[in-house]
Amino acid sequence: MKPSILLTGGAGFIGSHVAAAYVAAGYAVTILDDLSTGRRDQVPPGARLVVGDVRTAEARALVAEGGFTLLNHHAAQIDVRMSVADPLSDASMNVLGLLNLLQGARVGGVRRVILASSGGAIYGDGARLPTRESGTKLPASPYGVAKLASEYYLATFAQLYEIETVALRYSNVYGPRQRSDGEGGVVAVFSRRAHLGEPLTIYGDGEQTRDLVYVEDVATANLAASRCVAVRPSSIDSCAYNIGTGVETSVNQLASLIQQSARRASPPPGTITHAAARAGEIRRSALSSEKAQRDLGWWPRHSLRDGVRATVEWLAAAPHHQRRVTASRVSA
Ligand code: NAD
Repeated sequence: MKPSILLTGGAGFIGSHVAAAYVAAGYAVTILDDLSTGRRDQVPPGARLVVGDVRTAEARALVAEGGFTLLNHHAAQIDVRMSVADPLSDASMNVLGLLNLLQGARVGGVRRVILASSGGAIYGDGARLPTRESGTKLPASPYGVAKLASEYYLATFAQLYEIETVALRYSNVYGPRQRSDGEGGVVAVFSRRAHLGEPLTIYGDGEQTRDLVYVEDVATANLAASRCVAVRPSSIDSCAYNIGTGVETSVNQLASLIQQSARRASPPPGTITHAAARAGEIRRSALSSEKAQRDLGWWPRHSLRDGVRATVEWLAAAPHHQRRVTASRVSA
């Protein structure tokens, strides 16, 4: 019999790639998504979509009564600045949403829960690079606090009930279907601006670094996390895996790589402009994924050059993603 999975947020950027990987691997996939930032047309063929909010009684009943073996939780509000402005709304979605589903999972006998966590948001700026799972946790935003709290809830449910848990701590994920408005990642924003021939705005000196991991590599990490041997939690880190490349890429390097990739496109790619640095941005980020390689047999297969090329090509072929963005919303 096919393993049955409930995937929240499966109409979104990362979730839709994860859903496609599960369908291809033979899982019976149900997606729960309120389509607030996700899109119906991103749900892959073969997956069932239930439109709903993860915080509702209906969502809890779906987990409890759906006969799922796995719950994979990707639904979230991902706007870090919104979490600073309105931490209550952020916690309602990102903490209470998970807790609601965990209550359903407990009743429904779900065997394993996988959480999309964030290495970029939970480790402090002073953590050693590349940061290991045991690195110092000091979130700089309520969004990061919510992810850390979620990992603690997982570890507690694993101790109290017969539930296995895995937290995947992603670095900065990029690739096709990432939105370039709102809290879009820097690759999506730069790629679209270059594609439209608009200037790429770099905040500060551009020497701030990010660990950029391609979304299809993240999807395979989710498959690996669904199949790996369960670990009883001795800390939140024992059931957590960093999913990144370990490579630091500066925003300056990324801007020129995207310019080169877009060079074949028309109109000509945008020039680079600089604006004042923004408060609250971490300076350097890179995650060590040695543990994922050892325990999950996972490592990133895509080079940044190939991933950026695939993203730029996708943008060129996806007209609905080519709305204009304002420089003030560019996020790194
Ligand atoms: P996204 O906005 O594309 O996906 C989130 C999905 O959740 C959307 O489809 C949205 O409609 C849905 N959703 C939001 N609120 C909901 C609710 N209350 N009920 C049901 N569905 C709801 O974002 P993404 O970048 O694909 O992020 C997916 C997950 O990965 C999130 O948990 C995010 O925190 C995590 N993550 C992302 C990154 C990154 O670089 N993008 C890095 C680390 C962690």
